[in-house]
Amino acid sequence: MGEYAYVAGANDAVKIGTCENMYWLRFEQLDDISARSAYSLDPRDPRVWEGIRFRFPFPDEDGIPVGQHAEYERGLNIADDALAESITKHSRVQFLSNQHGGAGRGGWNVMLPCPLSPEARELAEDGTRIMRNGGRVGVDIQQQRVWGKGADAVLAVVVRCAGCGALVSFPTLAGAAPIVEACIARANGTDDRDAAERWLTIAQRITAGYNNPPERIRQA
Ligand SMILES: [Zn+2]
Repeated sequence: MGEYAYVAGANDAVKIGTCENMYWLRFEQLDDISARSAYSLDPRDPRVWEGIRFRFPFPDEDGIPVGQHAEYERGLNIADDALAESITKHSRVQFLSNQHGGAGRGGWNVMLPCPLSPEARELAEDGTRIMRNGGRVGVDIQQQRVWGKGADAVLAVVVRCAGCGALVSFPTLAGAAPIVEACIARANGTDDRDAAERWLTIAQRITAGYNNPPERIRQA
């Protein structure tokens, strides 16, 4: 279901999300919302925070108003399968046997553990051959969500497994440290000053979500 809200200065409600995903709204943009829209949740209400996720504040999107982000489900890829394999939650992935004709035309539709999950590693150890032919690897930095209540609350980073699409939140900075370190490593590993700056800012924003989260989170 689409979620809408009114933004200061606009007459019509703008779309801010779908179900639990506030695709077009950063947490810090809650102040830009002037009124809730009928039949939509009010993202300013702390009671709904537990069930929703906000757009990650990508530095190259600073200044884009609520509802105007171009790529709704944006994820910033970190192409490192070790990161994906370190996350604890994965989904099942659908594999079809009728893609190439011939002996594979049985029409089977099999749900298997994400190839980057511990379950898949067990299958491989038992002799199941799991191979990859291109595609997206690693994890995508995608969202933030409120975790905890009161003085302990944080704005936790949410990543998506590129293998299965599972969304994983890190309730602590220690848990998110591999993601932060990967961003810093990318900043250090490029000669492109703008790109380095963006990676460092992303690392800082992830860290700030834990060490210095927006005040309204802890006041709620
Ligand atoms: Zn996965």
